[in-house]
Amino acid sequence: MGELYSLAGKRVWVAGHRGMVGSAIVDRLAAEDCEVLTVGRDGADLRRQADVEAWMAANKPHAVFIAAARVGGIWANDTRPAEFIYENLMIEANIVDAAWRNGVEKLLFLGSSCIYPREAPQPMTESALLTGPLEPTNQWYAIAKIAGIKLCQAYRRQYGCDFVSAMPTNLYGYRDNFDLTSSHVLPALMAKIHAAKAEGRSSFEVWGSGRPRREFLFAADAADAMVFLIKNYSGEEHVNVGTGLEVTIRELAETAAQVIGFDGEIVFDSSKPDGAPRKLLDVSALAGLGWTAKTGLREGIRLSYDWYLEHKAPR
Ligand code: GDP
Repeated sequence: MGELYSLAGKRVWVAGHRGMVGSAIVDRLAAEDCEVLTVGRDGADLRRQADVEAWMAANKPHAVFIAAARVGGIWANDTRPAEFIYENLMIEANIVDAAWRNGVEKLLFLGSSCIYPREAPQPMTESALLTGPLEPTNQWYAIAKIAGIKLCQAYRRQYGCDFVSAMPTNLYGYRDNFDLTSSHVLPALMAKIHAAKAEGRSSFEVWGSGRPRREFLFAADAADAMVFLIKNYSGEEHVNVGTGLEVTIRELAETAAQVIGFDGEIVFDSSKPDGAPRKLLDVSALAGLGWTAKTGLREGIRLSYDWYLEHKAPR
């Protein structure tokens, strides 16, 4: 099958290579015949335009993945809005502009399913963007990510740059953030259930009502989709990346407890926010291009929990 863009022999910069998705993209690129470039914060602070311009001019990547971002769960988003909007706007604007100035051939920007309106019809198609008000708890992050899509579109229209955007659903996997005040729901549940089991308790706590529905994609699958898209997609419209399957937070907690081997009770903390009621992506555009997810939720939780046990669990 002919690809639109070949990574063979190319210098490929993964911005954000220490994060969960960026590191999964680096792992996935090992199977491609390309040179992977990375830079730590000491080499270039991506929030600083001069750093990004200097690094890009010195290293001249052919292709770029923007997986660098200030990310976090519902509590972090709600309580640190300035960091979420400022850092994400700066990172994406600096990289997109420097990519154009340095003749980058292909760029893939990663966003998030929270770009869609809170009340968007489910499953959410790409065309639901900017059709209604955002979910207030993560509007700061969402506005920055919408701006990232628009940056790619504007540079494509005005300068003919082949810059594309992918919007992944809620991701989890290796090197996730397990800190309870800033993490997303799945790593938080793993850490909480693990602690309850280890301490011999009879219950664990879940924020909100347990009724919101979410879709979860294993980060290694997400990385595979990103590499697929950079090679096979060119267009102005962003592309949803997910499984097309959803679970309630209660079901998620029950599944995680089964995988971890804990049969305690769930206690719901209604002082914490539920956030968006549903966030299910319509993935038919991606499926039409020829990509579908491989790792089921139970298997993905098992793999992530094994990683947690090996690297993060308190001993
Ligand atoms: P969201 O998808 O942007 O809302 O991000 P999260 O992954 O942080 O939260 C998803 C849902 O899980 C929300 O309804 C949370 O209230 C719920 N949730 C339940 N327990 C937890 C927890 O311990 N941590 C987090 N972050 N969310 C939790």
